[in-house]
Amino acid sequence: MDADTDTAREALARAGQRLYRAGLNQGAEGNLSLRAGNGFVITPSGIPWETLTSGQMVVMNARNEAAGGKPSSEWLLHRAILDARPEIQAVVHTHSSFATTLACLRRDLPPFHYMIAMAGGPDIRCSRYATFGTPALAEAAVEALEGRRACLLANHGMIAAGESLDAAVTLALAVEKLCEQYWRACQLGEPILLTDEEMAEVMAKFADYGR
Ligand code: 13P
Ligand code: ZN
Repeated sequence: MDADTDTAREALARAGQRLYRAGLNQGAEGNLSLRAGNGFVITPSGIPWETLTSGQMVVMNARNEAAGGKPSSEWLLHRAILDARPEIQAVVHTHSSFATTLACLRRDLPPFHYMIAMAGGPDIRCSRYATFGTPALAEAAVEALEGRRACLLANHGMIAAGESLDAAVTLALAVEKLCEQYWRACQLGEPILLTDEEMAEVMAKFADYGR
């Protein structure tokens, strides 16, 4: 196994623990991937986060051959996003409660807070529904992610992607928080949405924020 792949395995294990400790995934739900070598490394299928080790990560090569175990049932979804989006290095999928709550209502997240722009645009879309682990879900996710780095998956959960694994995990945490805030705001009334101009101004400021 090359050093690049070993580093990716370790990074995925640390990222998985970060999401687990933050409560975004429990049991074996959710999965993560990171580009490495001529393919990517992905979490295995059905292994609880509590017991998951870096040695159990699965390596997928450019021909979609898996080595080291059974890849996540969503490997096609990860593959499709990485293929469609050359700038993306890592993909995070969670069943976190607030994102999933909105995804069950099949609601897009509107520009109720300027931090929505973190995902790359003025809203975060909810995909159409498809069964987990299917090519149809992979296609629906790529479509909902067009021009964005995050989306909700109807009646399922959330996807966050990034130019690094850290960025993808940070975005997943942010999207979950935004979903909670939107849900809370909706309990009290109808959130006031930012205008296209206001969101465009935020996106321009985000271009060099924190760099
Ligand atoms: P895996 O354990 O196969 O990754 O499945 C979890 C999941 O979230 C399916 O959508
Ligand atoms: Zn899932």
